Amino acid sequence: AKAKGRNQCVRFDAALREQSSQLGILGQGLQRAIRQRHLELYLQPKVALSEGRPIVGAEALLRWNDPELGSISPARFIPVAESCGLIRSLDQHVTDLLCELLERWGDKGIHLPVFVNISAETLASEGFADGFLGKLERLAIPPARVGIEITEGSLLETSHVTRSNVGRLTSAGIPLSVDDFGTGYSSLGYLHRLALSELKIDRSFVAQIGTGRDGAEAIVRAVLAFGRALGLRTVAEGVETGFQCDWLIREGCDQAQGFLFAPPVPVAEFERLVAGWRRE
Ligand code: C2E
Ligand code: CA
Ligand code: CA
Ligand code: CA
Repeated sequence: AKAKGRNQCVRFDAALREQSSQLGILGQGLQRAIRQRHLELYLQPKVALSEGRPIVGAEALLRWNDPELGSISPARFIPVAESCGLIRSLDQHVTDLLCELLERWGDKGIHLPVFVNISAETLASEGFADGFLGKLERLAIPPARVGIEITEGSLLETSHVTRSNVGRLTSAGIPLSVDDFGTGYSSLGYLHRLALSELKIDRSFVAQIGTGRDGAEAIVRAVLAFGRALGLRTVAEGVETGFQCDWLIREGCDQAQGFLFAPPVPVAEFERLVAGWRRE
């Protein structure tokens, strides 16, 4: 997949001048943004679906505010990073930002776990797990505090290096979450061997709860049963309505994330949110 991504970048260059120059501008801009720290870490709360819906963690989501290009969404720049060979420096940068944050939180007495998105390419690179674990150790950050979200698709890339990285991370106590679950084709047996912590149900399924299209509800039920069978925590993403929330509680989902509770917000705002939430 790596090589394909790069070829794609080259092929675009040759065939579609217009688009490629746009890709080039974005790629260069992104490189600059990483260097000049124009990428900001936003946090979206993960809440437990129990009484009072306490905030039990967060997902780290990047925001790119470029002085010239304006605000660019990850939906646009992550694919650019992937096709232009920048995704590994981007993942590196996000984990650096997160470690800085968790170090500060340690001093402030905030002990919530934060989950970060890591790409298939990074997970398949030699030494990723050791580098990451080494950094946590140097900063005295407990491994249970930093979760990693990996898409179901990238877990299916069963290279030797990927498997060894996953093994090292999980045995060190890093919680591993399977993102966009339900969109890939993993087998029960395969996921069981990976020592995962949670399954995140993709927003596309959650969005269809209560719409009368019972196909999606059946999928969500199946995923929840799957999670229970494997002893994994289940998290629904993209929860927007009270109806979806109630339905998920009834079906035994453990946690939720979505605009119903809070959108992704800057770190300072997240800290205020957590403080206010506790007092309620
Ligand atoms: P994702 O991992 O599935 O993240 C969830 C996306 O859904 C986020 O979009 C979030 O803002 C959005 N979302 C959350 N709650 C709701 C809701 O209730 N309704 C709706 N309509 N949307 C909701 P965002 O921040 O634009 O990120 C898009 C994707 O970009 C992410 O999807 C993730 O795959 C990728 N991404 C974001 N940050 C990073 C990063 O630091 N590294 C990597 N490798 N990928 C990232
Ligand atoms: Ca995610
Ligand atoms: Ca997701
Ligand atoms: Ca998703």
